[in-house]
Amino acid sequence: MRFCVAIDGPAAAGKGTIGRAVAARFGFAHLDTGLLYRAVAAKGGDPVAVAEGLQETDLLRDDLRSMAVGQAASRVAAIPQVRAALVAFQRRIARAEGGAVLDGRDIGTVICPQAEVKLYVTASPQVRAHRRWLEVGGDRGQVLAEVIERDQRDMGRAAAPLKAAPDAVLLDTSVLTVDVAIAAAIDVVERRMRELG
Ligand code: C5P
Repeated sequence: MRFCVAIDGPAAAGKGTIGRAVAARFGFAHLDTGLLYRAVAAKGGDPVAVAEGLQETDLLRDDLRSMAVGQAASRVAAIPQVRAALVAFQRRIARAEGGAVLDGRDIGTVICPQAEVKLYVTASPQVRAHRRWLEVGGDRGQVLAEVIERDQRDMGRAAAPLKAAPDAVLLDTSVLTVDVAIAAAIDVVERRMRELG
């Protein structure tokens, strides 16, 4: 069975948590596509050449989750040739036998526009910055500024800007507990499965 769940949205909205839970519930593969851009940024050098030669083992580095790498990732992610080099790998996973969940910024719009389910997961910048601050600590104002800066770069770029696909189901996690957000996402997937028979 091929079944793709595309989850897009801004940083720290809950995409990863929801994506992992949905994948576990249905036994699907899960790809956090932000790791691809983070790995390109963390390797340094010419980002296009690095993206073209990226290996799956590059995604296993343990320094990919920092705020600094997130900012650098959003800069390399604005380069069209970097994005182009990463498309085939993402599509292979998206259409793999057994089902897949991909989370990122352009999954429902560019990578998998035919996805069986599209979710756009968001939350207010203040809520997202608070979540990030709980993970990384430091200066709260600085964390909020970085979240807003990254939103603006990801939404404002010409190449595959972050936006909801017209047929995406919107999930605002600002006032939802993790469990309720996960249950809502699972419900959307189950309803779609019933529709498709
Ligand atoms: O999701 P995460 O915060 O790990 O993503 C890091 C950066 O990678 C994002 O800010 C965005 O610029 C970029 N990205 C992207 N397209 C994706 C996933 C991530 O442009 N599908």
